[in-house]
Formats: sequence, structure tokens, C-alpha cells
Amino acid sequence: MDAATDLRLVGGVGVPEALLSDPERFGGVRQGDLRCGTLILRGGRVEGLTLETGNSRPECIVLSRLAEAHVHLDKCHSIERCNDVGGNLQTAIAAQMRDKVLCTAEDLERRARRGLSELVAAGCSAVRTHVDWSASADAPLVPLAWEVFGALNDEAVKDGVTLQRAALTDIDEMSDPARADAVARRVARDGGVLGSLVLHHIKRREGLEVLFACAEHYGLSLDFHVDEGLDPDLNGLELIADVAGAMRFSGPVLCGHACSLASRSDDDVARIADKLARAGVAVAALPSTNLYLQGRRDGTPDRRGITRLRELARRGVDIIVGTDNVRDAFCPIGRHDPIHSLGLAVLAGHLDPPFGRHLHTITSTARRAMGLEPLNIEGAAVADLLVCPVPSLSDLISGNSPVLPLTEHLGVTNAP
Ligand SMILES: [Zn+2]
Repeated sequence: MDAATDLRLVGGVGVPEALLSDPERFGGVRQGDLRCGTLILRGGRVEGLTLETGNSRPECIVLSRLAEAHVHLDKCHSIERCNDVGGNLQTAIAAQMRDKVLCTAEDLERRARRGLSELVAAGCSAVRTHVDWSASADAPLVPLAWEVFGALNDEAVKDGVTLQRAALTDIDEMSDPARADAVARRVARDGGVLGSLVLHHIKRREGLEVLFACAEHYGLSLDFHVDEGLDPDLNGLELIADVAGAMRFSGPVLCGHACSLASRSDDDVARIADKLARAGVAVAALPSTNLYLQGRRDGTPDRRGITRLRELARRGVDIIVGTDNVRDAFCPIGRHDPIHSLGLAVLAGHLDPPFGRHLHTITSTARRAMGLEPLNIEGAAVADLLVCPVPSLSDLISGNSPVLPLTEHLGVTNAP
């Protein structure tokens, strides 16, 4: 059959309005924050919705493939061999450092392959993994995991999946321009992302200025682990916004964690949010690891450790949700599944219904923060879409049924 005239209809579909640029024009009938009807696919692409006849309650939700902007495939699924897990961030860093002697190429590939396949099964077509990258004098310039994951990306691309690698350096070490340049040059050569850990580092301002200059020079995106703690003196997020603004940095900047905003005054949060919005810096909330590591004390935790998602969003900052650590020293349980992570953010960050307005945190905004074009549903290729056989976004985010590639669904149902 001529691909241009190949018509397929999928009945009983609900499409989140928030994932459409023009819901009225897309068609269907509005039900809550869904457009419902029969999905029209022509020539392998989405044309719109017709009005549903009969039972108008959708039988399935169709959405674009997901983006996971923050995982650690070099650490995941190592929990069985990590001792002394169950403390704060510094305890986790020390435990994971001790585990590094076991991270051979075979071990890294096995665990990362598992993590990536879990993410793809959960609906992802874009994944960013951080890779621990020490530029200290006694470490090799390029970490083993960086090389191993490069080969994994070459494989993933053939299946329509992008695996980005983000170098996770130490910001004090990046204050040395020669070291930072060597890392940035290699990251640029490999199409990677430049990043750093920013906590109470003495040279964090100098390191950020050097790192931004390197990123500008090589045309790189930036990604930070910043202010992963509840100490109100952690000010890396504001420093990043200041440096990005002062340099008029043009590339995407994504800041993960930003937990210490929870300990700042409303005035501080408003000021920092305005700077982030002006500089175009996005913030990733990472609820699973924050819930596990933050707010540690003798008794039950009474702090959540989640950044001020709602306040940031209200002032125009791009916010996204990521999965972070899965079954390692930083988080001893977890799933590589952005929908599950969004569910955690709903609970921990009070992201209330209607839920369609939060889907961008694991789709379009997450892709933009990764430097990728958003996947619009209008005109989308069937291969870029997912389907979940549930009638509502509450069911979807609850994980009451797995998401499937729409191509698989069409094959199973043999739609006309
Ligand atoms: Zn992380």
C-alpha cells in the first residue's frame, strides 16, 4: 500500500491536551485534560482525532516517548555489593567510591545495559547518564565508563534511542583551566555534555567560570549536581544562574537537586528563580534519591529534600523530574521509569491534579533541557508514540498498566 495513503484508525484514545500545541485543531472531544476520540494515522503519522461515537470514555492514553534526563548507569544495580548504605550523601559517595574497584568494563556494560533496557521498556527514547569523571592527576583522563557507554550509545541509536553522556567532574578541579579544557575537548569530541558536582567547594565560583567558558568555546550543554543538601549556605544554584547570566551563555543548562532551596526564605527563592528564568537554566527534581538521602537524623525524617518545584515553575523556570540513582549506594531501591519518578514527585512535591500539566517534566521540557527538539504529537511518527491501556492520567502515573510502543499496539490489534 502507498505509505502516503495508508490510513489507520485507533478508537477509544485519550491524548493529554498539555502535549498538544493546538488541542482545538487536533480534534476529538475534551474530557478533563484529555482530548478523546478516534486517532487518525495516515502515512505513519498522526493527523488528529475524530469525534468518538458511543462510549466516550477513553480506553487508552497516547503520549509521546519519554525523556530521562538524569540517571547514573555507572552506579545502578550495584546495591548487593555496597556496604554501609543508609546514611547521608557523604556516606553514599564513600560507599560508591569503595565499589569502584569492581567496576570493570564487563561489569559496567552489564549493569548499564540493564538500566538502559529498563528505561527503553518504560518508554524512553532519550536518556542522559552521568559518568563520574575525576580529572585528578592520578586518574586517567577518560573514565572507563565513558568509553563503555559510548559503544552502548552507538547501539542504542540504531533503535531510535539517544544515550547522552554527561561528565560528572569536581568543580574545584575544574577551576584549573588546562584540566577543564582537556575534559571539555574530549567531551566535545564524543558529543557529550559537560557537568560538575557543586557543593561546598572552595573554588566553586572560579570553577563555574572556567567550565562555562569551556562549554561556550566547544558548544557544549552543561549539567550540574548542585546544592544536594539542606544547608541554607549551599548557594551553587544562584552562582550558576549568575555566571550563566553574566556570560549570556547560549547552550542548555540543567541543574539537578537544588535541595537547599527548601531551606531558603521565600524572598531568596523568588530572587534565585528570577535569575534562573532569565538565564534559561532548568532545574531537575530527583525525588527518589532526595527522599532517601536528605533530612537524615536519629528518628524519622521530617524534611523531604525536594527542591521548590512549585515556586520555581510559578516564576517561569523550566522544571523537570528525573530518576537519578537506582539500586546503588545513593538509593537502595528504585526503578528506571520516568512515569514512576513523576509519581514520586506528585507525592513528595504536591504536584496536584489535573496531571496533564506535569507531563512535560518527563517529555517536552526534559528534552529541551537535554538540548533536544520536543516531540510534538501533532504530525508525530507512530514510532515516536506510546500507548497505555488505561482511561486516565491518574491511572497512567499510578503505573496501573505498562506503556507500550504504539507500533506494538497497532500490530497486536491489527487496527484497520
Ligand atoms: Zn545524580
